[in-house]
Amino acid sequence: MQKVYLKHKEEVLTALATNRTHGLTSSDAETRLAKFGPNALKAAPTIPAWKQFLLTLKEPLVIILFVAVGLALLSAAYDFFVTGNRSHGMAAIYESIAILILIGVNSGLGYWQAQSAKKSMDALRNMADHQARVLRDEVWEDVPVAELVPGDIVRVQTGDFVEADVRWLRVANLQTSEAHLTGEAEPVSKQSHALTEKVELGDQTNMGFAGSMVTAGNGYGVVVATGMETELGKIAKLMNDVPTQKTPIERVVHSLSKKLMIVAIGIVFLTLGLELFKAYQQTGNISFEILAASLSTAIALAVAAIPDALPAVLSIVLTIGATKLAKNQGLIKSLNSVETLGATNYIASDKTGTLTKNEMTVTRFFANGAHYEVEGNGYDTTGDFLPVDDRDTPAVECFLQAAVLNNEANVMQDEDGRFQPFGNPTDVALVVAGAKGDIDRATLLEKNDQRDIDILRVLPFDSTRKMMSVVIKENGQFKVLTKGAPDVILQKTDQVVDHDQLVPIAEARATMEKVILDFANDALRTIAITERAIDESLALHGETAELEQHLTLLGIAGIIDPPRPEVKRSIQTLHTAGVNVVMITGDHAATARAIAYKLGIVQKKDAQVIEGAMLDKLPDAELDDVVLEARVYARVSPEHKQRIVKALQRRGQVVAMTGDGINDAPALRAADIGIAMGINGTEVTKDAADLILLDDKFTTIEKSVAAGRTIFGNIKNFMRHELTTNVAEVLALLLGVLLMTGPIGHVSATTPTLTALMVLWVNMVSDAIPSFALAYDKPQADQMKQKPRDTDVSILRGMVGRIFVRGTVMGGTVYIAFIWAASAGLPAAAAQTIAFLTLVFGQLWHVFDARSTTTLYRRNPFSNVKLLAAVSFAAVSSLLVTTLPFFNVVMGTQMLTWQQYLLVTVLPAIPTLVLSGIKEAWLAVAKKK
Ligand code: ADP
Ligand code: MG
Repeated sequence: MQKVYLKHKEEVLTALATNRTHGLTSSDAETRLAKFGPNALKAAPTIPAWKQFLLTLKEPLVIILFVAVGLALLSAAYDFFVTGNRSHGMAAIYESIAILILIGVNSGLGYWQAQSAKKSMDALRNMADHQARVLRDEVWEDVPVAELVPGDIVRVQTGDFVEADVRWLRVANLQTSEAHLTGEAEPVSKQSHALTEKVELGDQTNMGFAGSMVTAGNGYGVVVATGMETELGKIAKLMNDVPTQKTPIERVVHSLSKKLMIVAIGIVFLTLGLELFKAYQQTGNISFEILAASLSTAIALAVAAIPDALPAVLSIVLTIGATKLAKNQGLIKSLNSVETLGATNYIASDKTGTLTKNEMTVTRFFANGAHYEVEGNGYDTTGDFLPVDDRDTPAVECFLQAAVLNNEANVMQDEDGRFQPFGNPTDVALVVAGAKGDIDRATLLEKNDQRDIDILRVLPFDSTRKMMSVVIKENGQFKVLTKGAPDVILQKTDQVVDHDQLVPIAEARATMEKVILDFANDALRTIAITERAIDESLALHGETAELEQHLTLLGIAGIIDPPRPEVKRSIQTLHTAGVNVVMITGDHAATARAIAYKLGIVQKKDAQVIEGAMLDKLPDAELDDVVLEARVYARVSPEHKQRIVKALQRRGQVVAMTGDGINDAPALRAADIGIAMGINGTEVTKDAADLILLDDKFTTIEKSVAAGRTIFGNIKNFMRHELTTNVAEVLALLLGVLLMTGPIGHVSATTPTLTALMVLWVNMVSDAIPSFALAYDKPQADQMKQKPRDTDVSILRGMVGRIFVRGTVMGGTVYIAFIWAASAGLPAAAAQTIAFLTLVFGQLWHVFDARSTTTLYRRNPFSNVKLLAAVSFAAVSSLLVTTLPFFNVVMGTQMLTWQQYLLVTVLPAIPTLVLSGIKEAWLAVAKKK
């Protein structure tokens, strides 16, 4: 459709064959969805699976393996055509086939891993996807944004995104930010009439554009374009997809792998040189066979040096963690955040709804100079008022009327007779209080002989102003009704209704302030309710600030919002874990303090509370001094949150910050972990967040922190294991190259400690499979008793020494086993098999130790069933390959005697058990000191 903004609403609706009161029918919507396609921007074409698979073949390790295959085939050819040694040639062919299979398995695994990680991240992202309010079959429903079609009638309010290109049909104060299209930061005011001449995008004031944020007001309109047809889509066509970023930990591992690659290449050349030199010294020339043998050793070494499973295991751990988190109602949007969560040491949380239940009930109010208590609980509208001072006056009615008229919430009874709240909980509480006094909005708005009330304008609540107003026309008179935070309202109040008289604020202030403070000290949320008579022109055209002044205070409501019972324990847990919990609220200082004390955020009843007004006066330098100690901030605006985050970050803290409103988005972006509310949060906030609490509960934050730590701990565990075993493998081979200067028994000087295929087997089976299982490990018992991880410290810190000691002992044991077998006169294959199994079982014993930051004696070896299964599989299959004739040929293994089997399975436990014992003793001594 051309130039929608020049057409009249009805024309647009007819052209789109839709209806503003009925919306589309769901079957019509379905047909249109099939015709126009999903309302989504097309991503850059994805790489086809076969190409992705081929990409895995570009890995350095795989290239080394291909070189090995080439060499093996070459030596086979040499055997067949030159020496005529057919059996030797067949062995070389088997070897190359085996390496090819391993390449296939390795690449398949890497490919499968990448695909499944992508799938689960996509699934998580879809869960975080936006919903839009759409009129279908005459009812408003939430529909996934992708299902919007042209002709749909959609509704938006502050904090939403406009999800398609829309022609507005009706707006109330609607403003949207279209910076993504026009570059213009100022929000644009919208209207719904047809324009008369052609204008640029930014001036098409009756249009909404996909991707813009609703910064104020609300409105509804008809979708005119979706997906790639929207203005946003046209821009998207011009842009390329951004590549997915690696997480910091992935970067660490990547650079580590690269370094190890270089080490590996160094080792290859060193070994090759040494071996050839040895051979030349002994025989005086270098035969092709010797060359092939030395190359094979060198390649085995290179393979041994690279921790090939590391990258795959790493992303598996992260993905498993993210999936687990989602089951716990915490939706993480990037793998990056998973590890940051574990390092968080400040959590700044909203009060209302997160720390408290957000089930608000008016329990007391003060109106016309008298106190009242309100009976009843929850949303049930039965209950009565008990005048505390034994006075009952008609002015109370006036107070309640203003409370329900200046209000957009509702309470309705469902089929089962239960009362269901709709709208802002603070407003719901006032609606319920009104109903208890038989006052409700619908009745007030019905016209009769005595009463004719119309609501002309709504100035919605926002947490910076902390007020909400409506402009009404009552029996021909114009009025503005304003309600909001009492301390804000008091400054805009001229007079107070007291005993049916108007008392100037100067006289009444002290009384009112005392009432407010008393309510707040009892942890009640306070709302002041006012009215003001105005003239027509102010009523129709007045700015918000002009309207919200010279008010007449009708009364104060005290609203209870009980703390969530489970939060107290969560806060305790976090405190033990070295995480500081900070409460940030728009509420009154005394209310905030009382709740913070109840929840254990502060330990003293009179703890310090920092108010928004104070923050405004503090320069950054002084704020930095306050921010580490402060635990409660009250009467703050969303803008303050950002300052608090930044001040904490300047002090080197890792900050998680929660938010729900649109104005919170910048603070969430600034925080290391932005946390949005899944239920009460606006789409804009969810978009800015790293973590979404699907259930809005604080406890979920605690669980997420714990999950973050578990993941990080597991990553450390498997790095410890992988690197230790790599050191062992390299050393076992290198000692052979360096120390075997002459033949021992039947074993020649150039015989490697392990064949290349044995090293491959060790890497792929006995090393990688248990490593995968470590990803599923449960947290260590003391995880939430430790201080948060210091992000400046390398992940390898504190591990390097342990890796080298254990790796050296393990590798040394393997070499000694080999030499012992050789000196006992065993054939080369038997000596290599003994070395192989010693290495395999050394690793399998060690994996239990790697699970712990202390030693294996502190962890139940049976607590990770997957690990037990992986270890058993690795053990049995490694024993099998020494007995099956096929593998004997291919891998160069040989069947051993049962005594030898017993020795190679049990003896390798000794280094792990003994070293751990020494460490335990050392820890005990250190503790005594
Ligand atoms: P928080 O979310 O931290 O509880 P808010 O910004 O929601 O803080 O509220 C701050 C203050 O604004 C409240 O203490 C209350 O006095 C006032 N207020 C809250 N909701 C409304 C509303 N719907 N209408 C008028 N005033 C409100
Ligand atoms: Mg709030």
